[in-house]
Amino acid sequence: MDIDFTPQDEAFREEVRAFLDDKLSDRLRDGARRTPGVFVEPDIGLEWQRILNEKGWLASHWPEEDGGTGWTPVQRYIFEKECALAGAPGLSVLGLKLIGPVLCEFGTPEQKERFLPRILSGEDYWCQGYSEPGSGSDLASLKTRAVREGDEYRVDGSKIWTTHAHYANWMFCLVRTDSETSQQKGISFLLIPMEQDGISVTPIVTLAGDHEVNQVFLEDARSDASNLVGEEGQGWTIAKFLLENERGGSAHAPRLLADIAKLRRRLDEEPSGTNGALGQDPVWTRDLAKLKLKAEALEFTELRILAELAKGRRPGPQTSLVKLVAANLRQDVDTFAMNLAGPDGLQLPAQRPLYGNEAPEPVGTVDDQLAAGRYLNSRAWTIFGGSDEVQKNIIAKTVLRL
Ligand SMILES: Cc1cc2nc3c(=O)[nH]c(=O)nc-3n(C[C@H](O)[C@H](O)[C@H](O)COP(=O)(O)OP(=O)(O)OC[C@H]3O[C@@H](n4cnc5c(N)ncnc54)[C@H](O)[C@@H]3O)c2cc1C
Repeated sequence: MDIDFTPQDEAFREEVRAFLDDKLSDRLRDGARRTPGVFVEPDIGLEWQRILNEKGWLASHWPEEDGGTGWTPVQRYIFEKECALAGAPGLSVLGLKLIGPVLCEFGTPEQKERFLPRILSGEDYWCQGYSEPGSGSDLASLKTRAVREGDEYRVDGSKIWTTHAHYANWMFCLVRTDSETSQQKGISFLLIPMEQDGISVTPIVTLAGDHEVNQVFLEDARSDASNLVGEEGQGWTIAKFLLENERGGSAHAPRLLADIAKLRRRLDEEPSGTNGALGQDPVWTRDLAKLKLKAEALEFTELRILAELAKGRRPGPQTSLVKLVAANLRQDVDTFAMNLAGPDGLQLPAQRPLYGNEAPEPVGTVDDQLAAGRYLNSRAWTIFGGSDEVQKNIIAKTVLRL
């Protein structure tokens, strides 16, 4: 693997550390730490996004001419790693890493000019309308229908598991524009404004009591024809481009390794009940060491993908491998934290948010208070962005050529 951290990379690392020291407030760190859900809430995420945007450090996945950072893939990795170590909020990927790169690649100049700056500023908040009741893994069977009527599309159907649709003012949506042709060829990629009579959003509360996902109903919803991305029938190609970014667009190892390091510190503080700390117990330390080794192996795989990107290649289906391993590791790390919390890990406060002045008092430590919520919410990792089984099918077919 020919990735070395050059003196310039190390200088960049120092610059990032100094920036994080200066700009990452206790409120932001606390909000990120005390969010048991998968996705950070907009009050925390957008505040951090504005700070990064001011610095020009926001759109690391966009071409520089469209407002991207101009970082090398290695710099991107260093940034993600330092943010994870510092406990910075993970930003919503929906605008910055999903629809943003799609518009950079497939958008018209007008679409780029209209939407990209508003993604950066946070004025537009996006949600992803892919899954439908009955069309998740088998996405190409989707039924939401868009019919062209003059200068606009009329859209009818329903989307489900739509993350943060209750905050979003725009949805990027896969719609069926042609029912006569093959399933994939009949799909188009349409941007739809959420604030209109034809759209209603119903909450779905997760096992842990968090409201992150929704069902969205479209009944005579309208979108201007200029909001079609690409041509009619090109939606499947665009959808796959976006999914590749969803599965491999973020480095997962930095956050996993930061969480594992934190668990290691907690082991050293937790009395074992036999004159010492759990950090000296061979079973606990062995189990955590196994997680650390897996996370380090994942980090090498992510760095190998970076080496490919640095040569100008697309990430490709290997991203399914990263998604599969990262999702399972995330669950294992949260299970370890749940075991470490012991009986105090059984608390599951109904109130949200768990940060700020109104936050409920934890029983035991804050980490104990978060353990069950994290554990339950991380079940979703092996489902969203394509389930484990779907990733394994892709790996079997396109990577292993079975
Ligand atoms: C927290 C969360 C957030 C999400 N956010 C969004 C979002 O913002 N936007 C969006 O569009 N979607 C979102 N999703 C939806 C997600 O992408 C789907 O849940 C996922 O693709 C699985 O689809 P499904 O739920 O319909 O399950 P199904 O497709 O019905 O699958 C059920 C089970 O069958 C298995 N299975 C299905 N097909 C095969 C096969 N061919 N071979 C082997 N096994 C198979 C699956 O692995 C799974 O275990 C989110 C989901 C969750 C949990």
